[in-house]
Amino acid sequence: MGKGGIDMSKNKRGKALWRMPSRGRGTCPLCGSTRIKLLYFAKGSQGEKLSVCKKCQGKQAG
Ligand SMILES: [Zn+2]
Repeated sequence: MGKGGIDMSKNKRGKALWRMPSRGRGTCPLCGSTRIKLLYFAKGSQGEKLSVCKKCQGKQAG
């Protein structure tokens, strides 16, 4: 590395996604698909934001 440079490989990535243990994958709370990318949002029964799969994006739970 050059002087004053930052070794990016040793820094955590900016994307919050990559800090998650599953790297954005998990079980979709709406359709129950496992090991799927939960990169979309739907509304929970209380109006809360849920991370869901592509199929379920924009859906309303409950
Ligand atoms: Zn889903």
